[in-house]
Amino acid sequence: MQIKGFVPTSFVDWDGKVSSVVFLPGCNFRCVYCYNIDLILYPEKLKTIEFITIKKHLLENKGLIDGVVLLGGEPTIHNDLPDLAKNIKALDIPVKLDTNGYNPDMIQNLLDNNLIDYVAMDIKAPLNEKYSKVTGVSIDLEKIKRSIDLLINSNIDYEFRSTILPSLHSRTDVIEMAKSIKGAKRYFLQQFKKERTLNPKFENARQFTKKEFESIKEECNKYVSTKLRI
Ligand code: SF4
Repeated sequence: MQIKGFVPTSFVDWDGKVSSVVFLPGCNFRCVYCYNIDLILYPEKLKTIEFITIKKHLLENKGLIDGVVLLGGEPTIHNDLPDLAKNIKALDIPVKLDTNGYNPDMIQNLLDNNLIDYVAMDIKAPLNEKYSKVTGVSIDLEKIKRSIDLLINSNIDYEFRSTILPSLHSRTDVIEMAKSIKGAKRYFLQQFKKERTLNPKFENARQFTKKEFESIKEECNKYVSTKLRI
């Protein structure tokens, strides 16, 4: 796998922690509101960073960071993801995985081999035909359900999270999404960023207001402890 981005210090990619962030190319989804366009569609345009460079930085700054976040794109599409996680864990540095949850076999592998310490998994839509509409690809919902079960029954810390916007998610949809992870440790509802999006129609899409977010959160809280990132 080629590493296509590295942020040495981030305060926003692992709640409560200072992290370094590694960006991996490609994705098996085509979410209409995705803003990682070059990373998922044209990774060859981006400079490749050798792991040895990242390793040097991590070793030099070990006392200053709490962990490394692996994100994409979608990291789990890379068969050698466990090797990358293993190389970071070998430095005695915790690893967080950000994933869309569409490769439960890979998540299982990483969990079984103690290669990840925290997982943030996206819930893109209610577990029905809307999942394909939001992700832009034909979805086998069983894979999403399996990843949800894996995390809820795992021994590591995790979160589920959803980026929501009114043109894609009704209030009922979001409540259904919360129901689909009932009993999970935590759920974050996130504001959609108005940026260049994969489907240009969404670049200026309306965002939920703070009041709407608060009201939806209250409903979701009946099923899973829900917080806002807005
Ligand atoms: S937003 Fe969707 S398409 Fe973009 S990187 Fe995440 S899962 Fe892939």
